[in-house]
Amino acid sequence: MAPDYLICLECESPCYVFEWKDDKIVEALCTVCGNEDPSQFATEGDFEELAMDARFEVPDHK
Ligand SMILES: [Zn+2]
Repeated sequence: MAPDYLICLECESPCYVFEWKDDKIVEALCTVCGNEDPSQFATEGDFEELAMDARFEVPDHK
């Protein structure tokens, strides 16, 4: 099922202009920063996973 919106990884804005097919982003356009690379967009769920992964990658110097 297509998500309601995608998140632009360039500027982290919600993006409603996109084409979704077979569980993948076919085309997307961020009207905020002009990003139109489908690989630079994520669904809300993917974005949360990325954000969590990024946090885990922060080195923990104690
Ligand atoms: Zn953007």
